[in-house]
Amino acid sequence: MTSAQIIDGKAFAAVVRQKVAEKVNNLKGAHGITPGLAVVLVGSDPASQVYVRSKGKQTVEAGMNSFEHKLDAETSEDVLLDLIDSLNADPTVHGILVQLPLPSHLDESLVINRIAPEKDVDGFHIANVGLLGTGQKSMVPCTPLGCLLMLRDHHESLSGKNAVVIGRSNIVGKPMAQLLLNDSCTVTIAHSRTVDLPDVVRRADIVVAAVGRPEMVLGDWIKPGATVIDVGINRIDTADGKTKLVGDVDYESCAAVAGAITPVPGGVGPMTIACLLANTLTACCRINNIAEFDELSF
Ligand code: NDP
Repeated sequence: MTSAQIIDGKAFAAVVRQKVAEKVNNLKGAHGITPGLAVVLVGSDPASQVYVRSKGKQTVEAGMNSFEHKLDAETSEDVLLDLIDSLNADPTVHGILVQLPLPSHLDESLVINRIAPEKDVDGFHIANVGLLGTGQKSMVPCTPLGCLLMLRDHHESLSGKNAVVIGRSNIVGKPMAQLLLNDSCTVTIAHSRTVDLPDVVRRADIVVAAVGRPEMVLGDWIKPGATVIDVGINRIDTADGKTKLVGDVDYESCAAVAGAITPVPGGVGPMTIACLLANTLTACCRINNIAEFDELSF
């Protein structure tokens, strides 16, 4: 039985994309500038190919330019760094995204930190991590930004709420915790060494699960009325020999206890790409000194 309100990330993402498209249109009309997003894919990982295709399609639908750079899995680090240098110097490119994971012979940190921080629409460059960590204007990682927008939309205020983020990755867990802290939550970051995780989660008004373990978070871990944001995307086999996508949260049991919950699919996923478009527009406005768009004002 589902009692929780379903937080419809798909619908919210459509609203964000629509607002981005309107602002892109205004930007073109008033300043003659079209935001451009360059996506770099190294290798042929099938999931990455799907993400890159979807990002390109939605970028064009929002009225922006999409530049796709597909490189062989064997591409050398020097070639990749040269490409990033040329995108950094290209005035038609305002956002640069290198699709992760990279093949193992490439140094991810080196590559990400080569991107000009003002074009780093993924928010992974150490300059942006530092700015976010010190509460300054930065590019904010898309997935945590999407989660934050949904939480802000659902709650009048996040101030003083107990938030538990499960997962401490650089791309989701840590920036998510930082954003919640910046919004004055009392934040706990849980991870694989956390002792008695269910007990930690039971104290949370807000739970963000970013673990990569299918349906790990169970209903009896959830404080009644809590808000549950499920970042996980896991493909599992079903009894009829097919596969399906599930999150890191056991949806049925958690939805019976939570006050609100995001579904998988249709929750965090669509918001991630919508926030990428928003970040590209933000980057374009900042690079051109146009005070027209604040990435958090949805
Ligand atoms: P990582 O593998 O980088 O990090 C997983 C985190 O979970 C680690 O900090 C790890 O702890 C922790 N963890 C693992 N097992 C447990 C456990 N049993 N108990 C508590 N914590 C545990 O994953 P990501 O952060 O990149 O992604 C997390 C999930 O989110 C994945 O399912 C991914 O597919 C999904 N995702 C979804 C996106 C979207 O757009 N919706 C975007 C990005 C990711 P430790 O550090 O101790 O190892």
